[in-house]
Amino acid sequence: MKALVKAEAAPGLTLQRVKKPEVGHNDLLIKIRKTAICGTDIHIWKWDEWAQKTIPVGMHVGHEYVGEVVGMGSEVRGYKIGDRVSGEGHITCGYCRNCRAGRVHLCRNTTGVGVNRDGAFAEYLVIPAFNAFKIPDDIPDEIASILDPFGNATHTALSFDLVGEDVLITGAGPIGIMAAAIARHVGARHVVITDVNEYRLELALKMGATRAVNVAKQDLKAVMQELGMTEGFDVGLEMSGNPSAFRSMLETINHGGKIALLGIPPGDMAIDWNQVIFKGLVIKGIYGREMFETWYKMAAMLQSGLDLSPMITHRFPVEQYVTGFETMLSGQSGKVILDWTE
Ligand code: NAD
Ligand code: ZN
Repeated sequence: MKALVKAEAAPGLTLQRVKKPEVGHNDLLIKIRKTAICGTDIHIWKWDEWAQKTIPVGMHVGHEYVGEVVGMGSEVRGYKIGDRVSGEGHITCGYCRNCRAGRVHLCRNTTGVGVNRDGAFAEYLVIPAFNAFKIPDDIPDEIASILDPFGNATHTALSFDLVGEDVLITGAGPIGIMAAAIARHVGARHVVITDVNEYRLELALKMGATRAVNVAKQDLKAVMQELGMTEGFDVGLEMSGNPSAFRSMLETINHGGKIALLGIPPGDMAIDWNQVIFKGLVIKGIYGREMFETWYKMAAMLQSGLDLSPMITHRFPVEQYVTGFETMLSGQSGKVILDWTE
């Protein structure tokens, strides 16, 4: 079958023939229809330091996808051939304390589809049936292919009550923008998003942010004054990984504010801890999606009118994957979809 392989220890990926995966007795065999390019795939493409120490050369990557069940192991229950599925990319151990207590998203032995094992940028993918999520009929393929990052946005945004709250989102990458859409959908008042990329700030406004602030040109505190926000944000969602963005969040959040951290900082990140202590802040780290509560919430939000379609700005047949990756690398895009059926 065809797959996008990290064929050598160098930037890029290669579309080449690999062996079709074998199906274990608890697994589903999924024929991939559409995939989306994640920020993680960009790290892998660039072959940065993290990718070099994480991604085995010869492996094929990718973890944002939708496909169709075409085979399954003898122990699988609850699926049939033809079911449309996406899946949770974190494969959990099942025997650690958190797994056994039902807090599966906190498994300490997670392996990642397309990161630690063969991924979804391929004609076929095998995952444990436990990890699959059946797509309701009214959710189109394209949207189903971005449930993984939408799940990061959902897990982060729904960490705290947003009804009637003023929310600051730092970082208008695809995940930050989707978080803005969620915040609006669930009833936040001001949803202010920051970035330094105009294209993405524009997209955030289209997706429901009430204010988009280019922090390279505009002062966040001045914007707050304009909005009549005298006390500060109630909730902060850090989605840039940029230390200065996190610092400005700590400065502009109200006393008793709540912060969820999804963005991954480049290394040690110094902050003014007095802001945390004297403001009595609650800070929560976010990894992945809750299994599988986040997935049900996502489906329900899509079915109750949350429209993610403007997020998908580019579509290519997989043969044009180089253009797809270059589009994502340019920063002038929302989600980029690769089609495996054409
Ligand atoms: P992305 O890189 O596309 O988006 C980050 C955005 O932050 C960019 O648009 C960038 O221009 C912006 N930015 C840079 N400096 C800024 C500043 N000073 N203020 C405001 N914005 C600034 O990433 P993404 O795919 O949307 O993911 C968001 C973050 O979440 C990344 O850091 C990613 O590594 C991380 N992530 C974490 C998890 C997890 O499980 N914790 C999962 C997926 C992604
Ligand atoms: Zn575990």
